[in-house]
Amino acid sequence: MPRPTHSSERIVIVGGGFAGLSAAARLAEAGLPVTVIESSKLGYAASTQNQGWLHSGAWFARTHPQLAGLCYNSLLQTLEFCPECIEPGVGGMIYGSLKDPSSQEDWTRAWDTAGIPYQQLLSGELNWNLPQLRHDNVAWTTRLPDRSFRPDVLLSQLAATARNAGAEIRPNTVVTGLMMEDRSVEGVVVGANEELPARLVILATGAFSVTRFPQLYQAIATEQSDYRLVCLKTHLRAITPGLSADPFCILDGVGLNHIPHHETSVFGTSRWEIVSNADNNQIEEPEVAIIERQLGQLFPNMSDKAVTVHDWAGTTIQAMHVQQIQPGDAPLPTIIDHSREPHGIENILSIFPGRATLWAHLAEQLRTTVLERFGSRRMDASKPPWDVTV
Ligand SMILES: Cc1cc2nc3c(=O)[nH]c(=O)nc-3n(C[C@H](O)[C@H](O)[C@H](O)COP(=O)(O)OP(=O)(O)OC[C@H]3O[C@@H](n4cnc5c(N)ncnc54)[C@H](O)[C@@H]3O)c2cc1C
Repeated sequence: MPRPTHSSERIVIVGGGFAGLSAAARLAEAGLPVTVIESSKLGYAASTQNQGWLHSGAWFARTHPQLAGLCYNSLLQTLEFCPECIEPGVGGMIYGSLKDPSSQEDWTRAWDTAGIPYQQLLSGELNWNLPQLRHDNVAWTTRLPDRSFRPDVLLSQLAATARNAGAEIRPNTVVTGLMMEDRSVEGVVVGANEELPARLVILATGAFSVTRFPQLYQAIATEQSDYRLVCLKTHLRAITPGLSADPFCILDGVGLNHIPHHETSVFGTSRWEIVSNADNNQIEEPEVAIIERQLGQLFPNMSDKAVTVHDWAGTTIQAMHVQQIQPGDAPLPTIIDHSREPHGIENILSIFPGRATLWAHLAEQLRTTVLERFGSRRMDASKPPWDVTV
């Protein structure tokens, strides 16, 4: 069938979070005309409401070694591309187990397999770095390369890279619908009725879009064969003044973790629940109580020093393979090409990073997908600015 003739060569990316901005940077660098449309300010949603944990992949290494390797690579690419986004004075993450000395061997084997470097802590180092920790509680500890990062700084750098490469970025502009002709997307509708024709539309709209802009999704959300859009919610607690400049993660139990940001400690767990509504970011007391109980056990004297406590919950959306739907389990970066789905809709892709950390991998995958679709001969052109290979 001949390709439809499009009245525009433009690629419109809807959403200005990590997914949309990194995609814009890479596609613009490949010489393609790109417009990003963001309904609010850039990074308004999950991209700035997250914990700021730049994953090394260590947490995923035992169950998903390939994903762990991707995470580690993304971490290196982030350090290369935007070292300023790393929280100053904060080192690598201390991983440990509270009760199982024998698990150390399994974890280190998994980190070796995934290619993630690690370093035993020197004697007394734990005491120095986490003086308030009840040490009799800890079976073993090891330091890994996970870092605390400032999402706003990384987003600004991605936006600047995209603009420098020629992308147009329109914040505070809402995409209210798709311009459809039969089953082909011909562009987007902006605001009340501005039509913006496009050769390709990329939805990088994260979680809220499903409930707030259902007209964008009604055509595509229910028609995927391999993937389901799964909305996940997690809780975080921030305490100021912070505990320590050392991030840590407890590998057993609920996976309590700590990401320091300036003078604040942000605590989370590995608990992600599946919710039906992406706008559901109400705080659930039992979830907060789990964080509180863990902190009380590990840092019994901490409450004396805490001045302000701030709890929040956030949602994100992941495209999960139908056979893999387990909360928080496999945050793989995913590109859905809706033309390949059973009811095939042409000229629209949707993209999900899974974790903010995986932005660089998603952008490269997307660039390859788009250039292949366009039959471009420029596949090998331009090395990504976050490339760490020599
Ligand atoms: C509480 C929480 C903690 C997390 N912690 C971490 C962490 O520590 N480390 C990590 O790596 N990942 C973490 N994540 C995951 C990470 O934040 C997300 O994977 C990532 O930010 C998703 O980016 P995105 O660009 O796909 O979505 P979003 O950041 O949600 O961006 C989507 C954008 O699209 C815009 N939009 C939607 N609809 C429209 C429309 N119709 N028109 C125009 N614009 C529209 C929205 O305004 C929004 O800005 C966390 C997530 C949550 C919820």
